[in-house]
Amino acid sequence: MEKAFILENNIDQRHREIEERYKKILLLSSDAIFIHNNGEIVYANPRAYKLLEIENKKEILSRSILEFIHPDWHEIVNERIRLTRESDENMPIVEEVFITSTGKEKIVEVTASSIPYDGERHNLIIVKDVSENRKMKAFNKEKEDMLRLVTENTHDLIAMLNKDLHITYATPSHFSVLGYSTEELLEGFSIELVHSGDRENLIAGINRTRGDGVNACIQWRCLCKDGRYKHLESYAKPIYNGEILEGVVISSRDLTERIEAEKALKKSENKYRSLFNNVNDSIYLYRLRDNDVPGHFIEVNDVACARLGYSREELSNMTVLDFNVGLTMDKINATKEKLLTKGQAIHRSLNRTKYGKYIPVEVNSILMIINNEKCVLSICRDITEREEIERELRESKERYKQLIEALPYAVYIRTLDRMLFGNKAGLEYLGVSSIEEMKSKSWTEFTIPHPSYVEQFERNLEQIVTEGYLPLTEERYIRLSDNKILNMETIVTRCSYDIDEVTYLVVTRDIADKKKAEELERYMEEKTKQLDEVVEYEKLRTEFFANISHELRTPVNVIFSTIQLLNLNLASMDLSLGNKEKFKKHMIIMKQNCHRLIRLINNLIDVSRIDTGFFNLCLSNNNIISVVEDITLSIAEYIENKEISLLFDTDIEEKYMACDPDMIERIMLNLISNAVKFTDGGGGVFVNIYDKDDKVVISVKDTGIGISEEKQKVIFERFIQVDKSLTRNREGSGIGLSLVKSLVELHEGTIEVISKTGEGSEFIIELPVRLVEDRVEILETQRLAAQANIEKIDIEFSDIY
Ligand code: ADP
Repeated sequence: MEKAFILENNIDQRHREIEERYKKILLLSSDAIFIHNNGEIVYANPRAYKLLEIENKKEILSRSILEFIHPDWHEIVNERIRLTRESDENMPIVEEVFITSTGKEKIVEVTASSIPYDGERHNLIIVKDVSENRKMKAFNKEKEDMLRLVTENTHDLIAMLNKDLHITYATPSHFSVLGYSTEELLEGFSIELVHSGDRENLIAGINRTRGDGVNACIQWRCLCKDGRYKHLESYAKPIYNGEILEGVVISSRDLTERIEAEKALKKSENKYRSLFNNVNDSIYLYRLRDNDVPGHFIEVNDVACARLGYSREELSNMTVLDFNVGLTMDKINATKEKLLTKGQAIHRSLNRTKYGKYIPVEVNSILMIINNEKCVLSICRDITEREEIERELRESKERYKQLIEALPYAVYIRTLDRMLFGNKAGLEYLGVSSIEEMKSKSWTEFTIPHPSYVEQFERNLEQIVTEGYLPLTEERYIRLSDNKILNMETIVTRCSYDIDEVTYLVVTRDIADKKKAEELERYMEEKTKQLDEVVEYEKLRTEFFANISHELRTPVNVIFSTIQLLNLNLASMDLSLGNKEKFKKHMIIMKQNCHRLIRLINNLIDVSRIDTGFFNLCLSNNNIISVVEDITLSIAEYIENKEISLLFDTDIEEKYMACDPDMIERIMLNLISNAVKFTDGGGGVFVNIYDKDDKVVISVKDTGIGISEEKQKVIFERFIQVDKSLTRNREGSGIGLSLVKSLVELHEGTIEVISKTGEGSEFIIELPVRLVEDRVEILETQRLAAQANIEKIDIEFSDIY
């Protein structure tokens, strides 16, 4: 009995232990465990509360399990509850969706079976929360997709090699970068495609990865399909399957562009560096300290060192303020201000070299930001020479200014419509007192062209505009300030001035004095000429009177000696026949010499009457043909015994016109007597009349000695006798032709001579044909004149022997 009790006790003990064990398992299980009776929950472990987000145990007991299951699963769950109760078999795991007390959905895996609970069959369900797992799975898938997408689309080249280093995968980017398709690469990548210089390195890198399982980074050149090499940077990583190395993944990047760019950059950097050191300017780069004060130099070029005499090391511990001695505080502030506001500043200053020499410089500073720091790049030019030139220029400008101001000419600089500059004389000329008064105004606000100069002014202006030049030209303006007429001489030429417009240099001078002087000169010339003429005239008169006394004395002497002869003969009173003949001869000589005297005196009287204006023509309408013909015929008879033929011809028989027949006869007698006088025996004299409608032309032509060209110029002048020699063989006073000319001119006609020495002369008279009214008197005059013809010829021919 006691044994049985002990046994019973032992059994209880073991049951309790088992119960205790299962309780613990239920309590600590990571799965949610529910026991329900036909759906009504009778037990739930702590994990179940947690799953359903319930805090109080009481809240869950006696409630239907379906309350916590998504309605979509109710049908399945009900079916599973029924099946569980009917059979003892465990239900397979299904996925269901639970709803927590706060309404959250949770994906769960559920197993179910029936268990005895308090003597009844109940349903046991074990629920595993797989929400997080699902999420992770989805996330992993997404990540994988993304990775694949990235891999497929990356510009980088990704390839996988198996243990034998055969390519098993290659991204399409290989095609775009190297020109090889994935298929070509999978078929086999030859080591030949690796640049011979890089082969060893590449193989060693991959082997290191394969052998030691370390990552390697290798730069190499790959021959592309187009024959060029590309620079690749490849990372090799081992791929493991568990502990076993499966292969190597190689991801490569195309560095060609970067390397080329680096090369170009290097080249350009070298270029700029060489520029930096070879320009003629000193260049400094320095930081600005916090208070924007120049800090130490970051970089200086060779020129800067050479110019200042400091080494690079010395300069690297200096600032610009150490040698830029021309920088006053004001200058520093102004430059700083400009630099910070405009980014650039130019100033002039003085640099002191290490050896104390001063160099004038122009500094162009530019503000730069390098590595977030304010820096200044200063380009410094030595302007010693420029300053020298500028000084010389200033001095020469000043000299020219003084010179221009001192010039007696007016000098202007102007555009077409604006005055820009005028010197002292120029301002005076325009009637203004200062440049300011004249500046920017138009020329025409001070002067206007004189009416006599307006047209020329327009032409000159046009020439200035088109040719940019006006040679020395006389101008005439009216000055508006006092209406004074300005006579000027001006020269204009295009010039450059400080403005963009076309400018002209005008140099002008007052020529009023010059004009006066010219006028005076002309007046003097005229007077001198008149005086010369008077002197000449007086000389001629003197000569004439000397000559005339001879002319007068000769016939008187002849008459006187003849009278003496007669007296002698009269004393002997021998009036024999022989003596009578002698008497007759003496009488003829006396008569001829009286004629000579009469001719001379007549001519003198007529000339002085003409000269004093007392000579009047006695005009009447006459047949000019017969007047000329009659006198010619009379002369012809008279010279019959001379061996000279005198021929008359006319192309009309009759031409009535107003003339003084006596004077026409004087003219004809004079011309014909000259012709006879200067023609030797055997020659001829021809008198011709030509009718020219409103004119009559009378020509007296001979075949005599002719008149030289020089003589032809003077024969019509008063008191001229061409042959002035005392031994002249032909007598004459030298007033015949001048008288003829005067008489022709009184008839309003003209006379000219055509002659050649040795060949003869022709005198041509042109008389206008006009008529006067009174005819009766004319006939009378004509008659009287005809009567006196012989006498006249005697007189006119008295000096021809
Ligand atoms: P004069 O009254 O002395 O004849 P003229 O005036 O008639 O003077 O002539 C002036 C000069 O012109 C002459 O002395 C002579 O030299 C020259 N002369 C005039 N007619 C002729 C002519 N027909 N042939 C050559 N010389 C002439």
